Amino acid sequence: MTVLHGGRVVTPDGVVEDGWVSVEGGRITGMGRGPAPLGGVDLGGRWLLPGFVDVHVHGGGGYDMTASPEDMAGAVAFHRRHGTTRTLVSLVTAPPDALVEQLGWVADAVAAGPDLNGHIVGAHLEGPFLADSRRGAHNPVYLLMPDRQVFARFVEAAHGTVRSMTIAPELPGAIELIGDVLDAGGVAAIGHSDATYAEACTAIDAGATLATHLFNGMRPLHRREPGIIGAALASGIFCEVINDGVHVHPAITTLVAGAPGRTVLVTDAVRAAGMGDGEFFVGGLQVRVSNGQARLAGTDTLAGSSLTLDGALRRAVQECGLPIEVASAAASGNPARAIGIDNDCGAIVVGLAADLVVLDQDLMVVGVMAGGQWDASDPASGLGPARAWAQA
Ligand SMILES: [Zn+2]
Repeated sequence: MTVLHGGRVVTPDGVVEDGWVSVEGGRITGMGRGPAPLGGVDLGGRWLLPGFVDVHVHGGGGYDMTASPEDMAGAVAFHRRHGTTRTLVSLVTAPPDALVEQLGWVADAVAAGPDLNGHIVGAHLEGPFLADSRRGAHNPVYLLMPDRQVFARFVEAAHGTVRSMTIAPELPGAIELIGDVLDAGGVAAIGHSDATYAEACTAIDAGATLATHLFNGMRPLHRREPGIIGAALASGIFCEVINDGVHVHPAITTLVAGAPGRTVLVTDAVRAAGMGDGEFFVGGLQVRVSNGQARLAGTDTLAGSSLTLDGALRRAVQECGLPIEVASAAASGNPARAIGIDNDCGAIVVGLAADLVVLDQDLMVVGVMAGGQWDASDPASGLGPARAWAQA
């Protein structure tokens, strides 16, 4: 058994000062306030949060998740060093044959089980059934109208691991496809869409429960035609936010988080995350990163982000003014609920997975535990000393 004590423990019921958490067999087995029953690791007043859940990420650390199974694992390891302990692998619009192959990799990763890499929960299909007019950085050559037979191929290839799919609900056949996504055990998300408010409401009535990067890749909020943004905020579905200070103004994050429980911080990160500025390819399109902002080369179109979830959480607290328990819920508990894994992880609660993040006073990651094991990543990540601290 491992006991972490002397921390500021962020729980669904608020912050427990001088709190302790015990871990055994990969699960949280006990928690409380004050002196821990058995000693253990002294957190020294550092923050202890649940591991982050990223339901929208394409890559990071130089790895593009759609390049190969090894790259998928590399990107997951990169984000784990930044506190992400559960991941949906987001697949950008590509030819169906390519998506079928990538879904097979995800299925294999999920089947590999709960080792440190086993926290890939499933796939998020971001396309190909998106609106051309709001495609963002998705390759227009591969966009398709909703096609139930194509989707059936995806389901077959994924072996039950399609956990989410972004659909433009105004396209012909989209509402039937939402039903198919739900039947496959996935979450229907709406986005990359020019849908009107009425069209968005039809999708929500049909079972869509998530808005893909709210405010980005959709018509703007207008007082008489509020579109997806209005429908999502008014209906109370989960809303992804890319809180990097570029995709949305910090005040937008604050506004969305004004209603409890609905905000889902996502990175939408591409391989450039953690790599500095430069040029690279995403979904076959050239992307230039400068000042940490990824854009389609020669355009102003944002092409994913270089965000990590610890950065999103830090901004939520330090720039958006959210209480840490609200920001933590948006990075862990809310996304876990959004994709239906909250019975397994996403909060510091007895019985849930021991997915934990230790943050210092500046909310920088100093330790990550996934399934009860400290992250054993390359010390070159800069977190080597933190691991030494955690194991001391
Ligand atoms: Zn994306």
